[in-house]
Amino acid sequence: MNDSVLSDNHNRKINYLRVSLTDRCNLKCIYCRPIGEIPRLKHSDILRYEEILRIINISSDLGVSKIRVTGGEPLLRKGVFGFLYDLNHISGIEDISLTTNGVFLSENIKKIKAVGIQRLNISLDSLDPRKFKKITGHDLFHQVWKGIEQAHALNFNPIKINVVALKGVNDDEFLRFAELTFSYPFHVRFIEHMPIGNAAVSSYRPLLSSEIKDTVSSIGKLVPVNKGLFDGPADRYRFEGAAGEIGFISPISHHFCETCNRLRLTASGHLRPCLLSDYNEDLKTPLRKGFSDNALAEIILRAVKNKPSQHRLSPNHLNPVSSQMSSIGG
Ligand code: SAM
Repeated sequence: MNDSVLSDNHNRKINYLRVSLTDRCNLKCIYCRPIGEIPRLKHSDILRYEEILRIINISSDLGVSKIRVTGGEPLLRKGVFGFLYDLNHISGIEDISLTTNGVFLSENIKKIKAVGIQRLNISLDSLDPRKFKKITGHDLFHQVWKGIEQAHALNFNPIKINVVALKGVNDDEFLRFAELTFSYPFHVRFIEHMPIGNAAVSSYRPLLSSEIKDTVSSIGKLVPVNKGLFDGPADRYRFEGAAGEIGFISPISHHFCETCNRLRLTASGHLRPCLLSDYNEDLKTPLRKGFSDNALAEIILRAVKNKPSQHRLSPNHLNPVSSQMSSIGG
C-alpha cells in the first residue's frame, strides 16, 4: 500500500471512503427525503458490487484504509452480506463500518457479525414510537430498538446512535438520548442538521452543538474523551461513571474541513470529495468503458486534488447543496 499518494492540495491526507450501496431507502425521514416525487436511479445506473469492490481496491492501493458502507439503506440491497464479506477481505482496508436505519438489523444481525462487521452507526432520531413514525413515516421504532438491543447483546463495538438535531421535533428528547449512555455503552452523537437537497424540514436556523451541549450538560458534567486513530469529526465526551459517550458533530457551527479525510462514492458511481459541494468525478462511465486500474486511479487522484479547501456553510449562510442526502450517502 502506498500511504502517501492520497494527499490533496491543502495537505490533507485522504484515507476514508464512504460508499453508498443504493439510493433506495425504506424510510421517509422528513429531513432527508425530497419533497414530492423521489427520484430513483435505474438499476443499470447503480454500480454493481464488483465495480464497487474494484474502486475500493484501487483506492486502497492509493492509501484508503477506512470504509463506511451507507446508502440509501444499505441493508435493502440484495447480496449485501456477500459484498461485506468481500470488502472485509480487501488488503489494506483496516476499518469497516455500516450506517443503517436499523429496520433490518434484528433479522440480519448474525449475518452482519458473521461477515466480520464490528462497527455500527444506527440512525435514530426519536425514542418515542409515535414521534419516530412522524419523522420516518413508519411505525417501526420497536423493530429498530430490538435490533439495537441485539447488536448490543452480540457485543458490536462501537454502536453509535446518530441523532440529527431537529428544532421543534426532537429537541425535547436530547436528555433521554444522553441518559442512554448511563445504561448502555453506546456513543450517542448529536448531528447539526445540514441543508442538503429539498427536504421537508427547514434547516433555517439549525440547532447548534453548543446549544445541545448546554441542554445535555444539565444532567452531568461532560468530560472530554481523547480521540482515537480512526475517529471521525465528533467532539467526544462522557458523563462521569457512564458506560457510553456523547458526541457532537458540528458541520455548521464548527466545520472540520481542515481535518477532513473523506471521499464519498455515490450509488451512481460518482466520487464526491466534499459532502457539501456538488463537484464530483464520474467513475462509472470510465469503468464501464474498460479503463485500466491506473486510469481509474488518475480520476480518483484528480477528485482528491480538487477537494474544496472548505465548505461555505455557517450558521448565517445556509445555502443548500442541490443533491439529496439519500443519493450521496450520509
Ligand atoms: N439509511 C441509512 C441511515 O439511515 O443511517 C444510511 C443513509 S443516511 C442518508 C446517513 C445519515 O445521514 C443518517 O445518520 C442521517 O440521519 C444523516 N442525514 C441525512 N440527512 C441529513 C441532514 N440533512 N443533516 C444531517 N444529517 C443527515
